[in-house]
Amino acid sequence: MDAVLRAEGLTKEFKGFVAVNKVDLAVERGSIHALIGPNGAGKTTCFNLLTKFLQPTRGTITYDGRDITKMAPADIARLGMVRSFQISAVFPDLSVLQNVRVALQRKRGDSFDFWRSERGLSRYDDEAREHIDAVGLSSFTDTRAGELSYGRKRALEIATTLALDPEMLLLDEPMAGMGQEDVERTSALIKRIAANRTILMVEHNLKVVADLSDKITVLARGEILAEGDYATVSKSPDVIDAYIGA
Ligand code: ADP
Repeated sequence: MDAVLRAEGLTKEFKGFVAVNKVDLAVERGSIHALIGPNGAGKTTCFNLLTKFLQPTRGTITYDGRDITKMAPADIARLGMVRSFQISAVFPDLSVLQNVRVALQRKRGDSFDFWRSERGLSRYDDEAREHIDAVGLSSFTDTRAGELSYGRKRALEIATTLALDPEMLLLDEPMAGMGQEDVERTSALIKRIAANRTILMVEHNLKVVADLSDKITVLARGEILAEGDYATVSKSPDVIDAYIGA
């Protein structure tokens, strides 16, 4: 198996309380991997550890064979692993196109003066439009981000994340707060993105998890309860107990 992201013995203690306990995780290159579990299972903590927003108490994390345990999130983004919905802010007063331009400009590190010039502004348009098309927002290119529906705003966040050209995306509850139509649109988008990228997501919507995931890791009380495809984990008596008992 070719694991692009791997955690070994991942542990996080908060003042003696063990929120994540000796978790071993291997995310296979090109897969969609979901992290699920009842409330308080340690999903968010695990996600924050993997994206380096939290420092583990013990354990190691490697990305593409490199030890990233002590790296900062921005350095990891440069290696190709990007967390969406947190670092990709959407500016409500800018249009969809302008938002994606800003992301491209940030990635290239062009100076603000260059970006303000006519040449600077239009330079990114073709590439920006590609990302906008990819997330299905082409008819909203000139719409102010603040006027987009909730689901489309999140699609724009994905577009700005794609502008960073990540090899791996980490999605924190991509369907949170969405109605059925947006859930379906976002599921289709995640499938398209996953065609040539690796995705790790924390997601509560089990129907989405069943539909999208190649592999599911179920956490409960900070530990791995079960792992495998949906058919396997959904039959596990431990998993059924954890969900019903939660
Ligand atoms: P989940 O995302 O699965 O709901 P969390 O990772 O948010 O679970 O939380 C796991 C456990 O760790 C919970 O019992 C929570 O109260 C505890 N926890 C999370 N963050 C902190 C913190 N900063 N300080 C103390 N306890 C925390």
